[in-house]
Amino acid sequence: MLKLPIYLDHAATTPCDPRVVEAMLPYFTEKFGNAGSRNHKFGWEAEAGIDKAREQAASLIGANEKEIIFTSGSTEGNNLAIKGAAEMYEKKPAGSPGGGRGHIITAIHEHKAVLDPCKRLQKEGFDVTFLEPPRDGVITAEAVKAAMRDDTILVTLMWANNELGTINEVPEIGKLCKSRSVLLHTDATQWVGKMPTNVERDNIDLLTWSGHKVYGPKGVGALYVRRRNPRVRLVAQIEGGGQERGYRSGTQNVTGIVGFGAACELCMREMDADGARLLKLRQKMETELTKALDVTQINGHQDRRLPHILNISFGFVEGEGLMMAIKEIACSSGSACTSASLEPSYVLKALGIGDDLAHSSLRLSMGRWTTDEQVDYAIAKITEAVKKLRVLSPLYDMHMEGIDINTIQWAAH
Ligand SMILES: *Cc1c(COP(=O)(O)O)cnc(C)c1O
Repeated sequence: MLKLPIYLDHAATTPCDPRVVEAMLPYFTEKFGNAGSRNHKFGWEAEAGIDKAREQAASLIGANEKEIIFTSGSTEGNNLAIKGAAEMYEKKPAGSPGGGRGHIITAIHEHKAVLDPCKRLQKEGFDVTFLEPPRDGVITAEAVKAAMRDDTILVTLMWANNELGTINEVPEIGKLCKSRSVLLHTDATQWVGKMPTNVERDNIDLLTWSGHKVYGPKGVGALYVRRRNPRVRLVAQIEGGGQERGYRSGTQNVTGIVGFGAACELCMREMDADGARLLKLRQKMETELTKALDVTQINGHQDRRLPHILNISFGFVEGEGLMMAIKEIACSSGSACTSASLEPSYVLKALGIGDDLAHSSLRLSMGRWTTDEQVDYAIAKITEAVKKLRVLSPLYDMHMEGIDINTIQWAAH
């Protein structure tokens, strides 16, 4: 028997792998020491746990363990990378044409944890270019190149988009930034642990990722800070005891860090097999859904996408109704009607997708334990729900009769 509801929201968070939990357990009880305690075994044990995790994390992205700063997750990592680099490398007013503190490039469909720090810096005198993506959602090196200025100090672009799964041209952008001596930060929260990553080969200076997106615990993550060629420095955003090379003060979350390390090692070993299996499941899902239902659209680039994320819109369906009809499937919707705002997803809007199709979109994201059976169930359930809702839709009837909805002159009241 299939256990309901089915979890298809792995882009929001992943369950903790039981092997990760097992690695963490001793650090709650026997090995509870403060890694900063230099004078006794309890401190040394905790420190050894952190050292191992730092190696595991570094190894996953092709970095040196000295380049890993443990954080509370990607929101903190992004804040530290973006604000920390901007404050460290700001132009003195004379060096910047606008009299500003320096120029930063990002994109309008980034995660809020990148957009909000950028907006803060904008208020504080930095110039920020928010690139607008093309319809496929992919930011190219060409687009970044066109936006570059003499006073550009930082480019911050995600590796893969959390709503769409689309993949930006990060290695190409890395090459470009390197040639212009501009720092590149990438929010790689959706990418790392799922796809092979090498910060050295791809010229990344700063890279953020998070435990709970890679089958590790919540509240822990890491920021990679390049140490040579060039040696990147940041202005700390949390000050105090000087932990994590002074970049992130506060007693280390030893248990979380140990779990994060274990999760990274498992990803390293299993990402190829997981990815290949999930790609097949995603392809099945999109093939079956588009075959069974007309007026559907896959959002974002058709090929440059993570294997496990599908963002799909169903025409002539009301988003709210759709979510209600598929309660057995835990997934995300492009419709924000359930939250405080009535605005649909700003990411879908950024791609030029109309409000109707944005509202009626689903993000289905699979993970390490998603089965064929679960995917089959989801396909059947979604197909049934969309068909039922369309029976109630006069607009869908008109569409079927060949009337172009967009040319209708609605009667004024
Ligand atoms: C989840 C996510 C974040 C936020 O990460 P937390 O660890 O929850 O703070 C940031 N960026 C992207 C792309 C994400 O998917």
